Amino acid sequence: MYSAGFDYYRAATLAEAHQLLTAHPGAKLLAGGHSLIPLLKLRLTTAEAVVDIGRVAELRGVSVEGDTIHMGALTTHAEVAISAEVMLRARALADAAGVTGDPQVRNRGTIGGNVAHADPASDLPIALVALKARILASGPGGERAVDAAAFFTGIMSTALGHDEIVTAIVVPCAQRGQGTGRRRPPCT
Ligand SMILES: Cc1cc2nc3c(=O)[nH]c(=O)nc-3n(C[C@H](O)[C@H](O)[C@H](O)COP(=O)(O)OP(=O)(O)OC[C@H]3O[C@@H](n4cnc5c(N)ncnc54)[C@H](O)[C@@H]3O)c2cc1C
Repeated sequence: MYSAGFDYYRAATLAEAHQLLTAHPGAKLLAGGHSLIPLLKLRLTTAEAVVDIGRVAELRGVSVEGDTIHMGALTTHAEVAISAEVMLRARALADAAGVTGDPQVRNRGTIGGNVAHADPASDLPIALVALKARILASGPGGERAVDAAAFFTGIMSTALGHDEIVTAIVVPCAQRGQGTGRRRPPCT
C-alpha cells in the first residue's frame, strides 16, 4: 500500500527545521521513519508536507553534561543501547533500547521519535519516567524541559506542541550519597 502524496523537505539544521514547520503548518517531522512511514503507508495518517530532520547533526549523540546524561533526539536506539555512559549510569534505559524492535529498528529508530510517537507499547517511555528524565523541546518561543512523567499525556499523545521539536532527552545522574555506588555511579 502506498501513502497519499506529500511534499518532502529536508532540513540541514534545527533552525531550518523550524522555518520549514512555520512555512508548512501541519507538516510532520520525519526522523528514523520507523513509526511515521508505516502510519502513512497504512493511511492511518496523512501529511501535506514532511520535514526530514534525520540529517540534523546537532540533534545526535550522547554526552555527559554537568550532572546529566544528554541524548540528542536523533540518537538511535542502537547508539543508546551501546553507549558506555548510558550503560554505566542509566542501565534501565540501555536495557530497554537494546530490546527495542529488531536490529533494523534499533539502527534507524530514534529516541526522540520514540517519545514523540508515544506508543503505549513502546519500551523507552517507562524507563525514562523511572529515571526521572526530562524531554527538551524547542519551538518558536524557545526551548523548554518537560518531565517525562508529564510529557506522556495518553495513548499516542504528548505535551508537545504542534510546532515544537524534541531536541534531546536528559537523564539526571545519581547524586553522591543517595544509594549510589558501583550500581549507578554519579556523573561527577
Ligand atoms: C517492525 C517494528 C518493530 C518495532 N518494535 C518496537 C519495540 O519493540 N519497542 C519500541 O519501543 N518501539 C518499536 N518500534 C518503534 C520504533 O522504536 C520507532 O523507530 C520509534 O518509535 C520512532 O522513532 P523514529 O525515529 O523512527 O520516528 P519517526 O517514525 O520518524 O517519527 C515518529 C513520530 O514522531 C515524530 N517525531 C520524530 N522525531 C521527532 C522530534 N525530534 N520532535 C518531534 N516529533 C518527532 C514524527 O513526526 C512522527 O509523528 C518498532 C517499529 C517497527 C517498524
